[in-house]
Amino acid sequence: MREAIEVMSKNDPCEYEIEGKRLECTHCGHAEFHEGKAMLNTAGMTLLGLDWANQTAVTLMCDHCGLIHWFAKPPKAKME
Ligand SMILES: [Zn+2]
Repeated sequence: MREAIEVMSKNDPCEYEIEGKRLECTHCGHAEFHEGKAMLNTAGMTLLGLDWANQTAVTLMCDHCGLIHWFAKPPKAKME
């Protein structure tokens, strides 16, 4: 039961802050995102020097337009 709640809370759109600045969608300016994870463990990413990032990236999908923003460092969810 607790697992189900955790999954649901991750699916709620949330505001994020990076280096003290509120994240806004680069396309539409919306400020709520759905968090996800993506693997970076491909030959191409290793060549780009991203294999230090534990082979995963955090993805934040804009709640409004769906544009996915990629982060090699996990962004901080803004707490109210
Ligand atoms: Zn957007």
